[in-house]
Amino acid sequence: MSRFRSLRWRLTFLYLGLLSVLLLAGGVAQYFAAREVLFRTNADALSSEYAADLLAFRRQIGTTARPAAALRALMLSKQFATELASGHTSAAIFDANGGQWQAVSAGITPNQPPPTLTTTDYLTAIRTKPKAYYLATAADGSTHLAVLNVIRVGTKPVGVVQLSIPTAVIDQTLQADRQLAIVGSLLVLLVALLLSPLIIGRGLRPLEQMSTSAGALAAGDYKQRVSVPKTQDEIGKLAAAFNQMAAGIDQAFEVRRQAEAEMRHFVADASHELRTPLTSIAGYIDVLGRRQSVDAETLQASLAAMQQESARMTRLVNDLLTLTRFESGRATQRLRVPLDRFINQALDELSLAEKGATESRDIQPGIAVNADPEALKQVVTNLAQNALKYAPGAPQRWTVFAADGRAAIRVQDGGPGISRQDLPHIFERFYRGEKARDRSTGGSGLGLAIAKSIVEAHHGSIEAESEPGSGATFTAWLPLAA
Ligand code: ADP
Repeated sequence: MSRFRSLRWRLTFLYLGLLSVLLLAGGVAQYFAAREVLFRTNADALSSEYAADLLAFRRQIGTTARPAAALRALMLSKQFATELASGHTSAAIFDANGGQWQAVSAGITPNQPPPTLTTTDYLTAIRTKPKAYYLATAADGSTHLAVLNVIRVGTKPVGVVQLSIPTAVIDQTLQADRQLAIVGSLLVLLVALLLSPLIIGRGLRPLEQMSTSAGALAAGDYKQRVSVPKTQDEIGKLAAAFNQMAAGIDQAFEVRRQAEAEMRHFVADASHELRTPLTSIAGYIDVLGRRQSVDAETLQASLAAMQQESARMTRLVNDLLTLTRFESGRATQRLRVPLDRFINQALDELSLAEKGATESRDIQPGIAVNADPEALKQVVTNLAQNALKYAPGAPQRWTVFAADGRAAIRVQDGGPGISRQDLPHIFERFYRGEKARDRSTGGSGLGLAIAKSIVEAHHGSIEAESEPGSGATFTAWLPLAA
């Protein structure tokens, strides 16, 4: 039973129902139109028959020599009525007052007088003009098609002749027509019934496909798509929207997969970085614990080494905290920072010259950004420390300028630069360049990742340029403060 509640069956029933109603309405209209045509044709035939009979009768009685009264009597006579009646045709003559004068029935109903219309019908026909045809009911209840013709003597109307035939004669012709229409309609319905699964099924196929694909999508097959029909109808639009949705889900899951993979990578890297100092501290503790007595010098050296490892670990944990803080996009405090004063002060505090760098500055005044000053200082510090680390003793040139509605903080060093293999990766977390893998010079590989996350949290960007052998240039771009 539920099968018949499906859209496919509902559409089939609706379609067949509508077709039946249309066929029925068309059939009925066609039947009545054909009936009307037949009525008019038969009425015309009766009128022609009358005209011929009238001519013959007048010739027979010789109208010219007779006085008007005699002529009138002849025209209203039974003799004339008998002349007019023939076959299925009954004749009746009425005088100009509407009274029936003579009536002769057709051969098929010999004992029954011809049907009559109302007196008004006859009088109106004489006074104005007879209608194309009339329908009259006989004593036995049968319907007859009647035509009226006015009889004139000279120009004066003396009466009216009614010729009628039973409509049953006409209906016989119509019956065959009706049967043909019924058989034809049933055939059309049968063909429609046979074709409907084909037509409706074809239209609904994308919906069925969508339902299967939605199931597969729910089961985790995010590559599922449906074929979009070429028609620009609702089903076509739905199929396109479905594919769009499936692509959206696929993309969202891809992003999630990537984020999860990145997260796993990050946790593995962070654990690895933390394990190294921890293993080292554990090693010192183990060695010290196994010795019976430890001389003061060894103890001092071990404690200093452990302190160094623990400081390294603290730095790493702090770096990780900073990184997660900015990468999670958590709002930072925003202040208007005039860059000339700010960068000068930050570089002064770093005392780069004391650390062996030849530092020069070209800082344009009047440029300001909205930023978290602590975070911005961290960017400057990380860039400066990298230059110190990877270009020791080389010149460092700091510039601040504005271009394209953005403020730029740039540092150029005269160091060895960055190799082509390293350049695309240096902003990745825990990435250390080839030369920096040695722990004594290299850091944890988080400095540039932190700088990038801070700059991006401020809706800016950071880039590095380098030709190996001719130094490295880092530029942080930040939106100008209004
Ligand atoms: P690290 O903690 O190793 O310094 P960073 O993220 O700060 O990590 O830097 C990543 C890598 O980029 C470094 O290992 C180094 O190879 C390269 N690098 C950064 N700054 C410079 C520079 N000024 N000159 C040459 N190489 C640099």
